[in-house]
Amino acid sequence: MMKIVVTAKVIHDDGSAYQETLLTLQKTAEQGEPLGLSLNESKILLNSAQLAIIQAQSQSYMQAHRECPHCHQRRQIKDHQTRHYHTLFGVIPIKGLRLYRCRCETNNTKSVSLLSEWLPENTHPELKYIEAKWASLMSYDLTVDRLKDILPINKGSVWISKIIVR
Ligand SMILES: [Zn+2]
Repeated sequence: MMKIVVTAKVIHDDGSAYQETLLTLQKTAEQGEPLGLSLNESKILLNSAQLAIIQAQSQSYMQAHRECPHCHQRRQIKDHQTRHYHTLFGVIPIKGLRLYRCRCETNNTKSVSLLSEWLPENTHPELKYIEAKWASLMSYDLTVDRLKDILPINKGSVWISKIIVR
């Protein structure tokens, strides 16, 4: 019996880094035991990798757009939002900031949602593409059912709480 831990390491340009556990497996090497990843394990791995990657990207976006684009003053946080983004590899919760606009920003609205700015839509283009392509061959329900056989599509994801948007 052995334990196999699959991790993702995120390394920023400034050298700061952190690591996430994507999947922990108990495996044996006995005769008759299944080899490698099971289908279900592969779905969990894809889903947790997608979650870790998207959370790293969203954290990076929020930090990079915290300042006023004109005078580079740090803008005040109005509140936090969570969106559920649909991908081929699961439904990924994304946390974002709503900010009060800076005085020098010429806009009718007092606040700005960084999530809406960054992601105008809630569905990944590849998921839309595959659904549309397959739905031309069979019904939408059958399409989703077939996709579910091999992908963690529509699988909800648990938020990895240690990534905090500052
Ligand atoms: Zn400004």
